[in-house]
Parts: sequence; structure tokens; C-alpha cells
Amino acid sequence: MPLLSSRLNLGKLILALALLSSLVALANTLHASYRVQREQLIGTTLESNRVYASKLAESTQNFILSAQQQLAYAAIELGKQNHDRAGLEAHAARLQLQTNSFNSVLIVDPAGTVLATSPLSLALTGITLNSQGNSEALKRREPYISDPYQSATGRLLVAISHPIFDAQGQYRGYVSGTIYLRERSILQSLLGKHYYRDGSYLYVVDRNGRILYHIEPTRVGQFALENPAVKAVSQGHSGAQEVRNSHGVLMLAGYAPVPSVGWGVVAQRPTAATLAPLSRLMKAVIWNAIPLGVLSLLVTWWFARRISLPLWQMARNVQNRDTGIAIRHVSGIRAWYYEAAHLKQALLYSFNLLQDRIGKLSRASMTDPLTGLQNRRGLQEGLEDWQARGQPFGIVALDIDRFKTINDRFGHAVGDAVILRIAQIMRDDSRDTDLLCRNGGEEFLILLPGIDVAASAAIAERLRRQVEAEVFEEVGTVTVSLGVAHYPSYHEDPHQALRLADKALYMAKEQGRNRTVVYPAPEGPAQG
Ligand code: GH3
Ligand code: MG
Ligand code: MG
Repeated sequence: MPLLSSRLNLGKLILALALLSSLVALANTLHASYRVQREQLIGTTLESNRVYASKLAESTQNFILSAQQQLAYAAIELGKQNHDRAGLEAHAARLQLQTNSFNSVLIVDPAGTVLATSPLSLALTGITLNSQGNSEALKRREPYISDPYQSATGRLLVAISHPIFDAQGQYRGYVSGTIYLRERSILQSLLGKHYYRDGSYLYVVDRNGRILYHIEPTRVGQFALENPAVKAVSQGHSGAQEVRNSHGVLMLAGYAPVPSVGWGVVAQRPTAATLAPLSRLMKAVIWNAIPLGVLSLLVTWWFARRISLPLWQMARNVQNRDTGIAIRHVSGIRAWYYEAAHLKQALLYSFNLLQDRIGKLSRASMTDPLTGLQNRRGLQEGLEDWQARGQPFGIVALDIDRFKTINDRFGHAVGDAVILRIAQIMRDDSRDTDLLCRNGGEEFLILLPGIDVAASAAIAERLRRQVEAEVFEEVGTVTVSLGVAHYPSYHEDPHQALRLADKALYMAKEQGRNRTVVYPAPEGPAQG
């Protein structure tokens, strides 16, 4: 039976089941809370980035409006009178230095020739510009914010310009302030300080999705329309979503437009940075779950043992060869739950049944079926028992006289009836403690515990007379011959003592039958 040698047992199975179910429960809890927390964290971060982008978009908008106002004011001043070169330069310098909004200020005539600059170091005075920003400003003759373009000095910049009209409404050129995109500018002051250590950053794009400001200078001037957040914000939308940045990193981006210029601000934070506290939280949950988990496993282990113990004990006792001992052991088992109690009951029931059957069988095996007296095996058992206890007993051997004749004359069945009747007489005449045995055929042995040889002879003689006085059906009178001996006074070996009784019986037959003969008493102590 391979299962018996298996190392799996009920206790281990229960423990494994408990372990499995608590692991599944833990995993389920972790998973569910992870998902909920994750969604919450992502939602919160997206929303705060959106709000943050909106705030910065608003600051940018305010800055541009105020820059335009400054330029508008300067344009009015410049339109009032004809300034000489020094006057124009003073205007430009004041505009640049006082406001600190622009990297440079240019005053340009209607032909596109630079009249004055601040700083002077630009060395553009007298030069006719042919940049895109310049031609657009001249063409439009209205307040204008350029797209990023390469300036005459080779810089990537954005220009905010305002037309100059004189008192007669004659167009006199424009005044413009520039913001350098790849150098320190007002944008850095506005946006640059907002940088987090955890990889968060923000950037500004124009209406074409071109980057105006970025924490990485190399990205300035690049188009980022493949980024869905950039696409949305360049179309004037505000919102938040998860995006993948140019390095392939997942980012939680919030974005908001700067309506007056068509720019957009995008604030983003790596998803991983947002979720980092979550994995710490999960680890903490697991660590905190360990002590109670171990405790509950110990309790489960204890219970599993308590559950399997009675089953194990019962299983062991089923193998016990001695049913009596098995019954005693199983009765003592604490079957404390329903199934075990049932099993115990069933086991005790079948043990008792078995013991009963064995008892019946062994009684049957020691009994003569015709007379119900002990057979040779029963005699042997009784002898061994008495010998072990040192029990002295008288011995009477009995044989029916001329039985062959009875069989011959009346048949076997009548012979049997005679045997049965004589057995009854023997039984009626005996005590419970006497051992009556049909020794085979029509011969009997009677062992009389505690009876000496004289008393045994008297009992034998009384039996002989009773048989002689009995009238047997069909047959009439039947006689028996008896021989008497004693253990241990005749022989210390009970079997030898029995043989002496047999010898006495033989003598009775010799002397003419229907008599009792006591074997001659041994001289002195028992013969060897
Ligand atoms: P004796 O007086 O010398 O004892 O003469 P006997 O004829 O009785 O001789 P013995 O004891 O040797 O005879 C035994 C006979 O008993 C032999 C057999 O036919 C008969 N017998 C033995 N067992 C049974 C039995 O169970 N039933 C019947 N009906 N007869 C039996
Ligand atoms: Mg005989
Ligand atoms: Mg006989």
C-alpha cells in the first residue's frame, strides 16, 4: 500500500491547506489594496499636476500680459516725438533693465532696420533684420508674439513686439522684447525653480508643440507633438493623463494652456516615483502580517495535530492482534469531534463483534458437537490452566460396555442417542467447575478439581449406578466401566496421571465390566 508509506498525513494536509488559504487571502488583500491605493495615488498626482500646470500657465499668462503692457507703454512714448539715437537707446535700456522681463529690447523702423538695442553689445544697430519674427511684426503692425525663431545673433528666441504709431497715426516701426530660450531668461525665473528631486519636471510648448522651456536645455526647440499631453495642450485643452516621455518613462502629466499666446504648460511626475511609497506600504503590510500569520499557523498546527491524533491512535490500534487490548486502548482515545467519535464507535462495535465471533469460534473449536462436552482440545486447555495454577484433581475415565454390539443391533443413530444420554447423566451429576470431556468415540474423561482419589472413586461409582439404573430407549440397560486416578498424587505429569486412569479402566474391563476400578495407590511420593 503505497499510501501508507506516504509522508503526507492529515495534520500536514490541514496545515498546508491553512497555509495556502492564508497566503491566498494575503495576496488577495494585497492585490486589492494595491489597486485601490494605486488608482488613488495616480488620480491625486494627475489632479495635482493639472492644478500645478494651471497655476504656472496663469503666471505665464500674467507675465506675458504685463510684458505686452510695458511694450505698449514704451511704444506710446516712442511715437510721441522723434528721438535721436541716444534717446532711443535710453528707452531700450530702461525697458530691458527696469522690467527685467526681456533678454534684449530692439527698436526697429518700418524698413526693418534696427534703430537701437539693449544691450548695446548685440551690435545690431543699423542692420536690417530679415528674421521671421521681424517680417511678421512689420507685416502685422499689431501686438504680436512670435513663434520661436533663430535671431540675427543666432539665438533661438521668442519676440514680443508692439507697433509704434506717431501722433498722426503713421506707422513708425515696432519695439520688441525678446526671450532667449536657451539662456537664462524670465522663463527660468518663472518656472525653473519648480523642480522636484524625484524626477518631476515641467515644460512649456508653443501652439505647434515646440518646446520653449525644458529642464533639459537640449530639448528646447524640439517638437513634442507625439506626446498626447503636448498635443492636447497645444490645442488649448487642460487636463491630465498618463504618458510616456521621450525616454520611454511613464509619466503622470497635468497640462494647461496659456490662452493669450497659445502656449501650454505640462507638469509631469514619473509614475514610478508616485507609486514608490505604495511598494513600501505593501512591504510594510507584509512585514506587519508576519507575526500574526506565524501565530495563526502555530495555532493551526496545534489544531491539526489535535484533529489527526485520535484518527492516528485508532489506526494504530486496528493493527493490534489482541482485540481485548485494542478495545481497551480505543476506549481510552479522546475522540472530541463528531467524525472521530463516530469512527471510534464504529471501531469499538466491530472490535466487540470480532471478539464475540472469536469467542464463539474458540468455544466451538473446544466443544464436541454431539454432546456439548469439551473435546480433546478443550481438555488440553483446561489441563494447562490447572497445571499452571497447581490445581489438584481427581480423574475418572469412562467407557461404554459392549458398545459395538449396540451399534450393530440398533444402528448408529441409537448408539449416538446412548452416548448423548450418558453425557447428560454425567452433566447432571457434576459441578460447574468439573471438566467433562468426550475423549473420542464412546469414551469420556471427568476431571474433578479439588477432589481426592477416594471421593473421585465414590463419584465414579455413583455415576456407574445411575447409568445401570437408566432405561435407554430401544436398548434397555447399558453399563459402563470406570477407572480412577489422581493428579498430582499419582503422577506429577497430568497426562501420565490420565493414562493411569485409563489403565484402571482397562482393569475394570478385564475384571468383567460394569465396575469402578481405582488405580493402585502409588507408594510414597509421586512416581517419576
Ligand atoms: P468394550 O466393552 O470392550 O468397550 O466393548 P466395545 O464394543 O465398546 O468396544 P470398543 O469400546 O473398542 O468399541 C468402540 C466402538 O464404538 C467402535 C465404534 O463402532 C463405536 N463408536 C465409536 N464412536 C462412535 C460414535 O460416535 N457413535 C456410534 N454410534 N458409535 C461409535
Ligand atoms: Mg471404547
Ligand atoms: Mg466400549
